[in-house]
Amino acid sequence: MTTPSSTTTTALPAAGAYAGLAAAVLLAFGLLFAVAFDQGQLAQLAQAAAGDSTVHEVFHDARHMLGFPCH
Ligand SMILES: [Zn+2]
Repeated sequence: MTTPSSTTTTALPAAGAYAGLAAAVLLAFGLLFAVAFDQGQLAQLAQAAAGDSTVHEVFHDARHMLGFPCH
């Protein structure tokens, strides 16, 4: 008695696909940190560069919209 054998080949994605995925994950975690856990330090840097508090207000509103504890 013989058992049927099957050979399947799976093509792996190109290495660039993993690099793009890694960049997207890093960006997502960076944004999550900036909105949810940063207490204004990052927005303060952007505020100093832009000259107004628009970035701070946007991140503050996003924190409220997403339901993270704020004040
Ligand atoms: Zn708030």
